[in-house]
Amino acid sequence: MLPVVALVGRPNVGKSTLFNVLTRSRDALVADMPGVTRDRHYGVCRSGERPFVVVDTGGLSGVEEAMDVLTAKQVRLAIGEANVLVFVVDARDGLLPQDYVILGELRRSGKPIVVVVNKTDGLDEQAVLAEFSAFGIGTTLPLSAAHNRGTDDLIRVLLPLL
Ligand code: GDP
Ligand code: MG
Repeated sequence: MLPVVALVGRPNVGKSTLFNVLTRSRDALVADMPGVTRDRHYGVCRSGERPFVVVDTGGLSGVEEAMDVLTAKQVRLAIGEANVLVFVVDARDGLLPQDYVILGELRRSGKPIVVVVNKTDGLDEQAVLAEFSAFGIGTTLPLSAAHNRGTDDLIRVLLPLL
């Protein structure tokens, strides 16, 4: 079975955009994996030296729950099945309290965490990284999913963790 990378983060930070870039969406597949729910999207990233499964945890729209409840549910599901957790945050929103809540849950899992600071297009990357260094996560990468910038670096960082 291929290793699994989960994309986790608040709504609207760009998880699905990143998922589409990593999996080139067209060859996305609905994997027949234990515990799979229709709430999540599965695809395979084949851009690096070794393929891995990518899980987009944000497919729960339409469920009548508060947003923070939704996010918490997604985080738990992702933690359960991932080998590596990619915590996606939004450079334009900056660091928000809910990010710390999510990060706290990710940390408790003991699994490797990579922080991706998305939407850095047009921003000062160093300033953005300085802000998010408050998380204290060693591996924090600037990225622009919409412009496909930084994704090769992300794949390079993920492979040794899988
Ligand atoms: P999700 O809710 O986390 O899955 O976020 P989406 O992938 O649906 O993206 C939310 C919004 O952010 C959409 O309008 C995207 O076009 C936009 N977005 C995603 N990635 C980027 C990026 O790298 N730069 C900018 N400027 N916008 C982005
Ligand atoms: Mg989404």
